[in-house]
Amino acid sequence: MSGPSGAGKDTLVDGLRTRHERLLYSVSATTREPRPGEREGTDYFFLTRDEFERRLATGGFLEHREYNGNRYGTPRSFIDQALRDGYDVVSKPEVNGALAIKSKFPDAVLIFIVPDKFSHLRSRLEARRTETNEQIAARLEIAHDEFTFVRRFDYLVINEEAQPQRAVDDLEAIVRSERYRIHRYPDTRLKELEDS
Ligand code: 5GP
Repeated sequence: MSGPSGAGKDTLVDGLRTRHERLLYSVSATTREPRPGEREGTDYFFLTRDEFERRLATGGFLEHREYNGNRYGTPRSFIDQALRDGYDVVSKPEVNGALAIKSKFPDAVLIFIVPDKFSHLRSRLEARRTETNEQIAARLEIAHDEFTFVRRFDYLVINEEAQPQRAVDDLEAIVRSERYRIHRYPDTRLKELEDS
């Protein structure tokens, strides 16, 4: 799930996870400072630049990007293990990271999250009080740049102001219908059905 900073991705991912126990969240690594209330290993793995580079050099990330002066990366081992164990995995990379994941996992489903009005992004970021005015301006510019990639995504979900449950319903509908796609059924299961 990608989308502009301030679109409410965190709330939507949390909402979706409470409805699907077979859905695991892939915690990303970052070199940015933790915001108040963010917890190590839950929100992010907060790494020094050196540690990030070390893990990158040893192939520890499925994809990685620089965003607004900090490094972000998707740890590889967790996703590999979770998929092997039959879980669905959700992550929240920025747009380039999402496209990189899709090229490695063509099965991945890319969902773009936007607020019902782009003008809400500024007010949400200001209300969060975790970024300076310059950082907010940079994030809004990135938001518009990222939206130019929206047609490379599979789904667009609009997170209406004060109605996150509706967007979570939409996400749930996507997850449910994606599970019924023919290519997700192993041949053995189809054979089993035919022979039953
Ligand atoms: P924030 O600093 O607001 O937590 O995240 C900044 C941006 O980095 C957001 O668009 C977020 O989705 C993205 N991001 C978070 N984790 C990853 C990751 O592992 N890979 C990539 N490519 N982007 C990430």
